[in-house]
Amino acid sequence: MKITSVEAIITRPPIRHAGKLGVGDLVHVDAVIIKIETDAGISGVGECSPWAVFAENAFAIKATIDHYLAPVLIGCSPFDVEAILLKMDAAHYGSSFAKTGLEMAVLDIAGKALGCPVHDLLGGLVRDRINLSYSITNQVLQADLDESRWLLDQGFKVLKIKTGVLGERDEIDRVEALRKLVGDAFDLRIDFNQGARREQATRLCRRLEDFHPTFIEQPFKGFDLDAMAALCAALDTPVMADESVLSWDQGFQVAKRGAADIVSIKIAKMGGLLRSKKVAGLFEAAGMPCYAGAMWESGIGIAASLHFACSSPAIKYGSDYYTASHLLTDDLIVSPLRIEDGDILVPEGPGLGVEPDWDAIERYRVRD
Ligand SMILES: [Mg+2]
Repeated sequence: MKITSVEAIITRPPIRHAGKLGVGDLVHVDAVIIKIETDAGISGVGECSPWAVFAENAFAIKATIDHYLAPVLIGCSPFDVEAILLKMDAAHYGSSFAKTGLEMAVLDIAGKALGCPVHDLLGGLVRDRINLSYSITNQVLQADLDESRWLLDQGFKVLKIKTGVLGERDEIDRVEALRKLVGDAFDLRIDFNQGARREQATRLCRRLEDFHPTFIEQPFKGFDLDAMAALCAALDTPVMADESVLSWDQGFQVAKRGAADIVSIKIAKMGGLLRSKKVAGLFEAAGMPCYAGAMWESGIGIAASLHFACSSPAIKYGSDYYTASHLLTDDLIVSPLRIEDGDILVPEGPGLGVEPDWDAIERYRVRD
């Protein structure tokens, strides 16, 4: 079986509302959908959904795929995934998002050809579901409280408060009010998205520890591993790295320098499922737990993330896998991913186990 065509489609599916995060705003979701066809008549789908203020952008990703990466995939066997990754590296530096979308579609084909779900290609399941965490991004107290109530009514057992936008006093009041709403035992997390002021961050985080967050995520700029390591030493609460680990090799640096207690793995940052498995293995060996993070992906990308997270022992904390079900108002797959009692379930069908909604993909296509 050989790959015969590769297509990248930029889409902008509608969202319930915009959000404010430490490093910048979420204005819309840009999802790059990949379609790969083979001479055996089996096709695969993939997705990468960048956020330009975090890493990469959809238009550059499509150009990278069209001009550099798609040509090296033509003629390859979809079973030669490692060789495909090396060929893509030899054709274009970095660009982990584009490589993730392509590798995802290749694995979808391999799974369909073998009649097995992608997680069977990744070592099999260690769990069949993971709890959903929703990120609170309104930065207006009443709207944050109302949305949190809406989520609690739906069975959410985990929420993440996006901080790093308001002033110090308002941050404390907001976290205090949200803790009061959800109760003492609830799994509440905090994510600065690099938005903390360096000279205030340690003091502010110490104050926020009074409200017992499960972890505090990425107060400092991604590159500032010294500040991250110092904060780990200063706090009792675990510190999680997200933007400090934008590639699997940066993951090695964070582990080596003790720059986090927990690491967020998003397949798009790592350059795909296989490299996510490898870096999760590195943290497993280092005794460092990992978090199942995500970008703002539709059901296609979330399905792939579930195959990774549910086959990876290092994943101890779930999960940002809420976009398709709770942020998009129209998903890009035909049947929604299953959610039960605040958990999202790994798909069971062959390949990624989801059927793309090509009509919806066409409806939200952005002409580049
Ligand atoms: Mg984060």
